[in-house]
Amino acid sequence: MVGNPFICKCGGLLEVVRPWKGIDSEKLKQLWDNRLSERMTVYASGVWRYKELIYPELPEPYITTKYEGNTGLYPTETIARYTGVRQLLLKAQSENPSGSFKDNGMTVAVSHGRSLGYERFTCTSTGNTSSSLAMYAALAGCTSVVYLPGNHISASKVRQTAAYGAELILFNGTYDDGIRFSRQYSEPLGQYVCNSMNPFRIEGQKSIVYEMAHQLRWELPDWIVVPGGALSNATALGKGLLELKQLGFIQKLPRVAVIQAEGASPFHRMVSLGDTSLIPEPQPMTIASALNIGNPPSWRKALHYIIGQLQGVTASVTDEEIMEAKGLIDRCGIGCEPASAAPVAGLKQLVRDGVVHPEETAACILTGHLLKDTEVIPYSYSPSPIDLSLEAVNGLLSRG
Ligand SMILES: *Cc1c(COP(=O)(O)O)cnc(C)c1O
Repeated sequence: MVGNPFICKCGGLLEVVRPWKGIDSEKLKQLWDNRLSERMTVYASGVWRYKELIYPELPEPYITTKYEGNTGLYPTETIARYTGVRQLLLKAQSENPSGSFKDNGMTVAVSHGRSLGYERFTCTSTGNTSSSLAMYAALAGCTSVVYLPGNHISASKVRQTAAYGAELILFNGTYDDGIRFSRQYSEPLGQYVCNSMNPFRIEGQKSIVYEMAHQLRWELPDWIVVPGGALSNATALGKGLLELKQLGFIQKLPRVAVIQAEGASPFHRMVSLGDTSLIPEPQPMTIASALNIGNPPSWRKALHYIIGQLQGVTASVTDEEIMEAKGLIDRCGIGCEPASAAPVAGLKQLVRDGVVHPEETAACILTGHLLKDTEVIPYSYSPSPIDLSLEAVNGLLSRG
């Protein structure tokens, strides 16, 4: 059997490590500022703008981009009050072209795969990774095959993936079963693997904090809070922050919190017990479909960066807490899918527990768009259509 190229002989995941020679942070900040006026070049992308820290040697012709990143960073008083911190920002990765932060990493993975000559791409996904992969593969004129667990995935994500022309393989089992399968067979099938074990996705996802730091003139809030499923985003956040500090782009490291959903929180359980080996959750179950992962592939990397290097914290929140926070984020006019509301719910808990101080500031990363997972959005409307008249409408409105 030919192994997966991203898995080490020891069974661990590989990662991109650079010697970082000749980085001049002041010169790069100037260059990146100048790139903010780029139009229709790869540097108009909110990922490739930071190419020097992401994939400096990749020749431009291989880059497949939809100008991903470039997402809003919104201060909101409502959510600051709700969570109990002095100032709160929402970083809306939901505004990416396929509707989730997966685009930040996927543009790099697909570009890397193309540079190696691949034309077939694959992933296992709870829905957003597959939407993103299918989009970039189609844009590059390539094909994609995606493995989707038959249960507990969002129909809107599956439809989006299908619409981009991906070949869908629906299987019996969980996300974790699909990961195990593609670890073994993607390479023999001639497919380039874009699961979160792909280290180039992690490199691309670092751009989320690069862009946030850039937007804030290189001074980050006290806390950055991110949801944890497969833990690739938490890993990228940690790696990206450490590089920014090490290379002199920021003076002070923020604290980091990773929020999991109860029912799919093996990482939080491990950390809170002070353990260093993860016990998978065999039957993960949460309303937040993007977090429905029982055996997070990147848990070792996340442990290394978030807990080991950054002394970060973890928490776990219930489906009810997630949906309450989501309703609030939606009504602020920003909106997100359930998984993305976990950080807001988690931050509230961390303030209540005294881990985060009310005088501190925080940014929560909104990972996915409101129009994902629409099945779970509660709404009310008149039980049956009415005949329009001022009286009838007034009657409905007066009911509040
Ligand atoms: C993938 C995803 C997550 C989880 O990120 P991981 O890197 O798997 O931990 C959270 N929210 C949304 C919307 C996602 O698509």
